[in-house]
Amino acid sequence: MIGIIGGGIIGVATAYELAKLGEDVVVFEKKYLGSGSTFRCASGIRAQFTDEANIKLMKYSIERWKELSDELEHNVMFQQTGYLFLATSEKEVETFKNNIKLQNKFGVPTKLITPEEAKEIVPPLNTDAFLAGAWNPEDGKASPFHTLYAYKKAGERLGVKFYEYTKVISIEEGWKIKTTRGEFKVDIIVNATNAWAREINAMIGEDVVPIKPFKHQLVKTEPIERGQIEPLVCPPAWNDSYVIQDGEDGGVICGTALEYESSPDDVSPTYEFAKEVLRWAVKIVPPLRHVHIVRQWAGHYARTPDNNPAIGELVENFYVAIGFSGHGFMMAPAVAQALAEKIVKGRTKVPLDWEWFDPWRFERGELRSSAFQIG
Ligand code: FAD
Repeated sequence: MIGIIGGGIIGVATAYELAKLGEDVVVFEKKYLGSGSTFRCASGIRAQFTDEANIKLMKYSIERWKELSDELEHNVMFQQTGYLFLATSEKEVETFKNNIKLQNKFGVPTKLITPEEAKEIVPPLNTDAFLAGAWNPEDGKASPFHTLYAYKKAGERLGVKFYEYTKVISIEEGWKIKTTRGEFKVDIIVNATNAWAREINAMIGEDVVPIKPFKHQLVKTEPIERGQIEPLVCPPAWNDSYVIQDGEDGGVICGTALEYESSPDDVSPTYEFAKEVLRWAVKIVPPLRHVHIVRQWAGHYARTPDNNPAIGELVENFYVAIGFSGHGFMMAPAVAQALAEKIVKGRTKVPLDWEWFDPWRFERGELRSSAFQIG
């Protein structure tokens, strides 16, 4: 029996992948499934990273995203509407060109486009400030709600048991997991608690992944006509601000890099964020100033010192997949498959660089180059 702690997208997808390989799986979630970062994310999926490990992983993950609705027998609303990064200086254009070269090397078809071409993709875009765009039409978005539901239902069909409102309190050698609903004996544990992961690692005396939770927020507008801002649009020099039309209802989700180090249980939105994000959003797409905001919410980026997740075996029969900053949703299909195959078969066909994501790297004083983050 395999016990997964944490019912976000990583835990639920990993449960499904393990069950697909014939394992008995139980998932413990202290609140409701998705209540951590997963249901609070911006829905974006991209292979436009700036290092080999993340580009390869996300290139593969996008291939998995394409299959998910059919495989899980539920529409996860994956759409390849692209990501459009916009450069505001010649220096940034040069950086974009270097990133594009690296992405192309691993088969990601990003290309440099003119502001006029960008405006064809995003009609209400303010092109005045931009010199060029980095455009990958294969990036996209999906519904966090439908995706988690699809993995859960498919997992249940294969026998996975989900225990919601069941908090893990302690872990004893062997493994005995003590929860608010009693004790469970399992052979293997997967810690998928992301922003809360240190608490779980500390329960086995191995608090070696120094994750810090940072509160990140989003606002969402009322629905606007479809086809206006379908890709995620982000000028990194404008405080990593971004806008993207929700794939489900057409409202515009707006984010920016204003963050607060805080407990992952603190999900109160701030007025300071609303002011900051809207300042940038109306610069990127000026007509947004006429659109009403209908929601604002907060979640957490669980950040490691190099903004790359920690994935792998921490001690014998205890695995982690934690610290996903702004990338856990998009990476989940690839990471879940890789981890399940590694646990069950000892190897995986997913191009996941175990050395790069090694949970012990911080103890060894090794840091990777920072994963390219936005928001
Ligand atoms: P979570 O969804 O946080 O799940 C962990 C779960 O563990 C929680 O449900 C929690 O309740 C549970 N738990 C904790 N402690 C215990 C315990 N003791 N016992 C039992 N259960 C426990 N990612 C993208 O890929 N694309 C995006 O566009 C994107 N945008 C984002 C925008 C914002 C504002 C935020 C906040 C995040 C964004 N992310 C994005 C990041 C993404 O949401 C996360 O990386 C991802 O959801 C992590 O999933 P997870 O399953 O690892 O963690």
